[in-house]
Parts: sequence; structure tokens; C-alpha cells
Amino acid sequence: MARVIVRQSSYDYETLKQHCFSILDQFCGDLIRKDSFVVIKPNFLSAATPDKAILTHPMIIKCAAEFVLSKGVRPQISDSPAMGSFERILKESGVKHALEGLDVEFKEFKQSVKVDIGEPFGQIDMAEDAIRADVLINLPKLKTHSQMLLTLGVKNLFGCIAGYRKAEWHMRTGVDRHMFARLLFQIYRTLNPAVTIVDGILAMEGEGPGKSGLPKHLGVLIGSDNTVAVDMTICTMLGIEPEVLLTNEVSKELGFFNGSIEVDGDLPKIRGFSLPGITPLAIGPGWAQRFFRQHFLQRPEVDNSMCDLCGTCWEFCPAGALAESGDTLRFDYDKCIRCFCCIEVCPSGALHIRETMGGKLLRKLTHKN
Ligand code: SF4
Ligand code: SF4
Repeated sequence: MARVIVRQSSYDYETLKQHCFSILDQFCGDLIRKDSFVVIKPNFLSAATPDKAILTHPMIIKCAAEFVLSKGVRPQISDSPAMGSFERILKESGVKHALEGLDVEFKEFKQSVKVDIGEPFGQIDMAEDAIRADVLINLPKLKTHSQMLLTLGVKNLFGCIAGYRKAEWHMRTGVDRHMFARLLFQIYRTLNPAVTIVDGILAMEGEGPGKSGLPKHLGVLIGSDNTVAVDMTICTMLGIEPEVLLTNEVSKELGFFNGSIEVDGDLPKIRGFSLPGITPLAIGPGWAQRFFRQHFLQRPEVDNSMCDLCGTCWEFCPAGALAESGDTLRFDYDKCIRCFCCIEVCPSGALHIRETMGGKLLRKLTHKN
């Protein structure tokens, strides 16, 4: 049985420090020795201030760093952002400022090594420092995710794939959400973080995980040495079946975890948390896929009044389905694999998911919401 600790908390330093230290002590206090290489992996998606709820809050990172320092070890704080410079993220997020004076190393994941994560993926390139870490401390943010429903503990470790290779994996798993979830799960199994603490104090609902999402105060910290158990507990808290999150489903399918959880603390029941509408990404027989993709699948659309044609989305798009066309964006929905990475990386929140008329009609006819 997995043990999950739930604590009601704010970002007040003293309160937070008490909760973070006690969770960290439970799950990795004995693992950190004087010569341990300890890596802290927050969510550093892109440059954003804490009020946007996109990144792990700086005070949580500070508390984790102080815990590691209290063991006589200098921690490394690392991630591979989806977009933008690592330095700019540290500055704009307030992390650099919050950790001023602490003896920590900030280092972007750049060097990769080949690691076998198991079939069907085999050897993949992963951040060398994440693999080399004796103790990996996973600090995700609780957010919605337009492609995968939620991004929690397991999904946060996708940041241990350095740089453009993340986009490459989106392309390779294509419209198969289940395959992408399996990739995420196997990355998690390979890295096996010592502890995961999810920042659910100021969470994100709606069309996350980037600037199109909306901050939502939940006031919880959730931690465990079993990341899947953390993710399942959060699903329960939000009133959704744990298996609806595909990484949880994969974990059960592969016999990794049966969902037996002991919760230490009061798990709040969150009502009315707004989740992105997730519909199938491939419908109809193979020969008709192109037609269905064009006319029935959800797709990204731009709000021209918010788009300044900065180019971030078309530079990131793994399918090459986006281009500048005069004074607007042009989508090639035939090529688009509906990964919704463009929504994730848009710094202006100008992209949103839209349903086609055909898709709405089809759902009405099949009585699916
Ligand atoms: S949609 Fe967003 S990312 Fe794409 S060009 Fe416009 S502002 Fe930039
Ligand atoms: S247009 Fe957006 S959703 Fe489509 S493939 Fe490109 S990044 Fe993914």
C-alpha cells in the first residue's frame, strides 16, 4: 500500500517549510548522504510569474533546497523548459530571488544519455543529470493539460527529456494519447524519483498548462514516494476516476500499482474544477481518417486580437502544421497531430481548443458530452 501525505497549506514560508520538511523527511530523509547527488526537478515550463500558476512556486523550491542543504548537500535545480531561456525563467518566476544566498546550483538539462526505458520505446535520450541523480526530488505543479487532461507528478518528468527531443516524442506518439501516456509512465519508472510533492496551493484549471489556463486556489500539498499514488489521489480529490488520467491507467495495465493508497491528512473534495474537454484524437476507419481529422476533431485556433505573431508556436510545432500567413496564423489541420503544444507554449494565451460543428454534432448523436 502506498502512503500519500496531504497537507492544507499556503505559501507562507514558515507553514510551507514545516510541511515540506516533514514530507521530505518521511520519504527521502534517510536517502540523502553527504556525497549524494541530489537533483530537484520543478515545473519550469516557460517564463511566468507565480500568480499565473504555471510553474512550481518559488517558496516550495526554496523549502526543498533548504531541506537538502540541512543534510549537508548542495542541491542542483534543473529542468528543460518547453520554451524560452532557463535564466529568464529563473528570474521572472522569482526563483532566483527566493533562493538568493542559498548554496545551490541552477543548471538546465542539456546533456543527454541513452537509456533503455523498456518496450516499445527501447533506448531514448534522457537528461544525464536526472539519470545520474542519487536522489531525485520531483516538484510538479497541479495543472490541467489540454492533451492529457492533467499534468501532475508523472507528466512533470517529461521535462527530463532535453530540448527539442520532447517535440520529437510528441511526433512519434502522434495522435495516440495512450501511447504518449505509456511513454510518460516508462520515463517515470526509469527515473523513479525518491519523492514527489505536488504544488496544489495555487493550481490551474481550464485550458492548461500554459497561459490559456486559469489559476485556481486549492490550498493543498500532496506528497509521496509513489508518484502514481499522488496522481491518483489528486484525481480523487478533483472528483474524477483515477484511471481517467491515462498514466494512471497505464500503471495499472502494466501491473505497477493497484491503486491501494493510505492517505495521511484530510483530502479535500474539490467541486466544479474545470477540466479541458478531451475527445478522441482518431476516429473512423483508417481510409477515412483524413476526412474525420479535418471535420470532426477538436483543433487549436488562434484569437487574432491576442496574437502578435511572435513565432513561438510554429517554431515548436512538432508536425510543422503552423505558419505565418500575412497578418495571421495558418493551420494545416491535415498535418496537425492535436498535441496542443502550441497552446502550451504560446506566451500570449492566444491559442485555444475549438470543436468543429461536425464534432459537436457527432457527440450529440453518440450522447457523449
Ligand atoms: S499564437 Fe501565440 S505563440 Fe503563436 S505566434 Fe501568436 S502569440 Fe506567438
Ligand atoms: S498545430 Fe499545435 S496541436 Fe497541431 S501539431 Fe502543431 S503544436 Fe500540435
